Parts: sequence; structure tokens; C-alpha cells
Amino acid sequence: MNNPFQNAQIQLSRAAAIKSFPEDFLVRLRSPEREIKVFIPLKMDDGSTKIFEGYRVQYSNARGPYKGGIRYHPATDVDEVRALAFWMTIKCAVAGIPMGGAKGGITVDPKKLSKNELEQLSRGWVRMLYPVLGPKIDVPAPDVNTTPEIMVWMADEYERLTGDKSWATFTGKPVEKGGSEGRGAATGMGGFYVFDALRELVGLPNQAKVVVQGMGNVGGNAAKIFKDHGHVIVAMSDSKGGIINEKGLDPEEVEEYKRKQGSLHGFPGAKEITNGELLALPCDVLIPAALENQITKDNAADIKAKLVLELANGPTTPEADDALFARNIPVVPDVLANSGGVTVSTFEWEQNLKKEHWSEEEVFKKLKEMLDRETKNVWVRAQTAKTDLRRAAFVIALERISDKRND
Ligand code: NAD
Repeated sequence: MNNPFQNAQIQLSRAAAIKSFPEDFLVRLRSPEREIKVFIPLKMDDGSTKIFEGYRVQYSNARGPYKGGIRYHPATDVDEVRALAFWMTIKCAVAGIPMGGAKGGITVDPKKLSKNELEQLSRGWVRMLYPVLGPKIDVPAPDVNTTPEIMVWMADEYERLTGDKSWATFTGKPVEKGGSEGRGAATGMGGFYVFDALRELVGLPNQAKVVVQGMGNVGGNAAKIFKDHGHVIVAMSDSKGGIINEKGLDPEEVEEYKRKQGSLHGFPGAKEITNGELLALPCDVLIPAALENQITKDNAADIKAKLVLELANGPTTPEADDALFARNIPVVPDVLANSGGVTVSTFEWEQNLKKEHWSEEEVFKKLKEMLDRETKNVWVRAQTAKTDLRRAAFVIALERISDKRND
């Protein structure tokens, strides 16, 4: 298994090889500013008490308050959270938003908890960490297995402990609880805007064949949005496996089926495939939207997509990046492709602080303008430097972070 933080460090070195930055700046960026591990006691429904490990890694606040999601997963550990926090630092700079980078998590399989246990664990994470959170300090959001409902429990606990009524400390809340219009679909929508800004430059048809790995918040929304814009979703998957139908799947129907049946097994009119087979399907766009380390040196040669759009964080390892670049398959890096989520989270934070409510139309218009501009920026930089899109995006981010870091 590739260590995601080591991969992140390799990505940083690669960008620094394209353009020189002061050594002390790079040294500082190789470590987070603060890393906190907490042991959260949880009273289980059966009366016993269990301890769960939780984390918050505050990587850099050079450009603004720390910002980043909270992940609940049995394989989550501090190395993973540190890598995700580093990527948030780069991502906020690539997107041009006034935020730093952070990430949090709990090592837990939330499917094994009751709703009451999940709520108490989420409130417990806040009780352990609230002194280092706040609208001007650190603003968490949802990630894998964390939902708008969990953000409400967390924001409520934060208010109880601090009296802060702005609810600007947690983003990704439901609209009726101070969330932003469009936040739910923002990562998928942002991914679509990035793709759309690149489509003609990469020479893809206006009815592209799209394969999506993962059908949670990000993959599920992306599949619907691509279909709504006339593209054909030929394959989708969840953690248990995937399905393919060359004529096209309806993501709403697939989600509905999964909700009822618990898996994609037996979906009418489609053939079942493994996640490994799904990654190797011939298509125009491959969208990894699940977890890290999906495209590695072991399967990069099998990838037949014309473009990889990384909506998950860290799905492609550095060796796989090189193998795909050598085969002229552009990889649109996570730090650009999935930056729509944190961008709309930042809109939510701004609306909460200013006590405003923006329409969905306004939110998506702003998001599209920002992503069109930053996608073209990254593309032009990659062409000029004759390098891949990840190195180009990192160089732009490093320029923006080093600009602000003058202490
Ligand atoms: P989610 O929990 O809503 O969904 C995750 C999906 O991935 C589920 O469908 C799950 O079945 C599937 N999955 C899990 N393991 C898998 C595996 N081994 N193979 C195939 N599928 C698998 O999570 P999400 O919020 O959609 O996040 C997905 C990715 O997007 C993560 O990498 C996350 O960090 C990233 N991301 C999320 C946001 C956001 O706004 N939620 C923003 C930016 C990036």
C-alpha cells in the first residue's frame, strides 16, 4: 500500500524541480503546523464504553483559516489525514480561495454504529477539539462517510461549548441549517466545470463516455451532472463492485436500486464488473471518486481512458502519473478537479459570517467563473512548462502560498 503522505511529498518535490522556491519555504511545507490526536470515549448503546482515535491536522494557515473535511473510515490514520491536509493546502491555493489546509478524521467503521452512537461520537470529536476550531481559526466540513446531518450535530455541539451562534465553524450543513445552496452537489459540479473547460483542449467529444468509480456524495452527483449535460455514464461502482452498460446508465436509477437492495448486484440490463475491471474500461473520461491509491504502477498500463478526472483525493500515485503522462493521458489532479467542494464550503462560511443567503444560481455562477479561470491557468502553465497538470497546479499553488508566507 502506498503511503499517501509520502506520495504527497514526492508531488511537492516534483513541483519544486520545475520552479525554484526558497529552501526554508519548502522545508516548512514538508511538515504540518499542528497535529492533534484525541481519544474519544463513546458510551455504546449496550452500556459499555469504547475509545475511538480521532485526528485534526492543521497543515498551513498561510492563506487563511485552516479548512478541510472530516473522514470516518476504519483505515483512516494520521498519515492519511496528514496527506489530505497537505492536499487541502495546495487545493485552496489552486482554487484561489482565502483558506489554508487541514483535515480531520476518526478511525471507525460508521456502518457498525447506531445513529445515537454516531451522533455521540461526532459530538465527542468536537468536545475534544473545539479550542482549536472556529470561524477564523479552523473550519471543518464533510468528507468520506460524514454527512450534512453530522455537520449539524457538530455545529450544535460547538455552539453549546462556545456560545458561537454564527455556525460558520462547520460547512456542508443542510440549507435549512445555514448551509449553502449547491453545497451538496458542489464537488461533482465543480468537477464538471473543470472537465468542460478542458474538453475541447483535450479533443474529447461533446457526448463523452464516462466511467465513475464510487457513488457517494462526489461520484453520485458527478454521474448525474455529466448525464444531465448530455454525456453517457457507461459504468458506476461502489465499494462492493460495479456495473457496466455501454448504452448508458441512469445514475438516479442506479442510486435508487442501491438504496433498496444495498448493492448494485442484479441491476437490470447491466453486466457486473469488479472495481479493477472498471478502471481499465475504454472510455473518454475515467472519474475515480472513491479513495486513494486506485491507479498505481501495477494498473496504469491498463488504463484506456482518454482523460482521468480525479474527484477523489489522491487516487493516482506518482509512478502512475508518469506512466499516464508518457502515454499522453492527461490526469486532471484532485487539487483542481475536486476543488468545487471547498470553494462552495468557503461561500457557505462567507454567507454565515455576513448573514447572507445566496441563490443556487449565484453560487454555481461564481463557482464556474472561478474554476474556468483556474483550469485555464493550470492548462497554460502545463503547456508552457511542458509538464503534467499536477506539477503545473502545484507550482501555481506554491507561488500563491509563498507569496503570503512572509513571517
Ligand atoms: P462518500 O462516503 O459519500 O462516498 C464514497 C463512495 O466510495 C461510496 O460510494 C463507497 O461505496 C465508495 N467506495 C469506498 N471504497 C471503495 C473502493 N475500494 N472501490 C470503489 N468504491 C469505493 O464520500 P465522498 O464525500 O463522495 O468522497 C469521495 C472522495 O472524494 C474522497 O476521496 C474524498 O476525500 C473526496 N472529496 C470529497 C469532497 C466532498 O465534498 N465530499 C470534496 C473533495 C474531495
